[in-house]
Amino acid sequence: MANCKRCGRIYNRLRRDICPQCVHEEEEIFLQVRTFLKNHRNANLQELAEGVGVDPDIIVGMIQDGRIILRDNPNISYPCEKCGKPTQSGRLCAVCSAEMVRDLQIASSELSAQKEKSHKGKGFYSR
Ligand SMILES: [Zn+2]
Ligand SMILES: [Zn+2]
Repeated sequence: MANCKRCGRIYNRLRRDICPQCVHEEEEIFLQVRTFLKNHRNANLQELAEGVGVDPDIIVGMIQDGRIILRDNPNISYPCEKCGKPTQSGRLCAVCSAEMVRDLQIASSELSAQKEKSHKGKGFYSR
């Protein structure tokens, strides 16, 4: 049992963190957004939100999760969470996500270097 993250109702948790009712509602919104995007290629986020009748944040959330992919909708964008530049997919713009990948790589190589050290430090003598 869990509380639905969206409406707060208690439900039998399967795999999503929202209840079946909300899954169904999201599915409807998702289909409407997709149809709207197809029919209004030049619409912006505000027009899309109004056209579908939902909060822009909900739509942005769907784009960030990768459930909605913007291909032919050049006017729909939202600010990157790091630098605030307009982006069309994920939470970060292309520049910031490339930077993050680089930082992660540096961090993980530092981590494995540390592991190596501590292994040597322990000194296993098999005799
Ligand atoms: Zn719910
Ligand atoms: Zn950015």
